[in-house]
Amino acid sequence: MEEIKKKRIAILGSTGSIGTQALEVIAEHPDLYEAYALTANNRVELLIEQARRFMPDAVVIANEAKYQQLKEALADLPIKVYAGTDALCEVAEAGPVDMVLAAMVGYAGLRPTMRAIQAGKPIALANKETLVVAGELINELALKHRVPILPVDSEHSAIFQCLAGEMDNPIEKILLTASGGPFLKCTMEELAHVTKAQALKHPNWDMGAKITIDSASMMNKGFEVIEAKWLFGVRPEQIQVVVHPQSVIHSMVQFEDGAVKAQLGVPDMRLPIQYAFSYPFRVKASFDRLDFTKITNFTFEQPDTVRFRCLALAYEALHRGGNMACILNAANEVVNAAFLKDRIPFLRMSEVIEQTMQRTQFIAKPTYEDYVATDAEARRVAEEMMNNN
Ligand code: NDP
Ligand code: MG
Repeated sequence: MEEIKKKRIAILGSTGSIGTQALEVIAEHPDLYEAYALTANNRVELLIEQARRFMPDAVVIANEAKYQQLKEALADLPIKVYAGTDALCEVAEAGPVDMVLAAMVGYAGLRPTMRAIQAGKPIALANKETLVVAGELINELALKHRVPILPVDSEHSAIFQCLAGEMDNPIEKILLTASGGPFLKCTMEELAHVTKAQALKHPNWDMGAKITIDSASMMNKGFEVIEAKWLFGVRPEQIQVVVHPQSVIHSMVQFEDGAVKAQLGVPDMRLPIQYAFSYPFRVKASFDRLDFTKITNFTFEQPDTVRFRCLALAYEALHRGGNMACILNAANEVVNAAFLKDRIPFLRMSEVIEQTMQRTQFIAKPTYEDYVATDAEARRVAEEMMNNN
């Protein structure tokens, strides 16, 4: 019998919410997938545990201070151990790698993802900030190196699944669903006083802290609008956000004849992760199934961009183009981290982002170096704006 070649996957950010779920997918299909490289930033104990279980070829800890601990803990195994951000890029580029799962959080994912594309590696993309910051550049690189970018974000995976079999049928509209997060029903007055602990309790999804805060402010949805533009080549006015608090429909596509296709499922990130690994095939999986006898309430509403100003700012960044979404992202990373440290109240986040967008130099046609400089400058401006109040 012909032996099936296993797909060797480099997981950038294996200790995170997406990374650990990706390893569950690999564990369920050891005949199909293999973890070639695992990487983390700080959580060295978990990385050690993962390495001992999945026996990758290499592991990388971005924080070099943790290298010794990692090296010693794996000394009895034939696993290569590296530290630092360059090593992170190098394992993604390595010859045997068949696919790179970009599951780091934030701007830090941009460079390794670019390097992996330049090395010709297909990308399973969870790290949406990469497309928010530099979508145009990423698309150019992916085209040049003939590399597919397979969405892992559940909404974009849903859209991607709706597009299967549609060949060249143009998209009329994308209907991007949003749960609305934990503060959907809050008034402005209540939003002014919501706490970090409340924001970290997402009603439907268990995710990393940064994206959970972004979901509470709806910046996550704003990012997903930008992500959809770059992944599916649509104009901003073709992307409509629809609040659907049950998170059963993961997104929809409307075609030119008015037909709407949707992808549904229980909220479980393992499905979009697995689809990115297995595309164009579907692979049998043990995930929970939807039970339509239990779905009694299926609702839809308009997003409120007054209470959730971050969503309006993301649309504005998309309309302005150039480096504006890079500024948006950098300012958001600063305020998100500050909110998580109780340094600023919830509603201050969008104010600082808006002020940073007004004060950071706009570049219409940015190069990679411009994005690096913009990210640094916007972070500096956002810090200054935060300290001004
Ligand atoms: P987590 O915070 O749970 O995990 C992030 C991972 O990246 C961890 O492995 C972390 O290492 C690593 N990491 C963080 N910063 C750095 C850095 N500077 N250098 C190297 N590695 C780093 O995030 P999530 O898994 O929730 O999210 C990952 C990405 O996927 C984000 O872009 C998010 O928007 C996107 N996404 C997530 C979804 C989810 O359900 N969680 C859904 C859709 C998209 P360490 O553990 O050591 O800190
Ligand atoms: Mg999403």
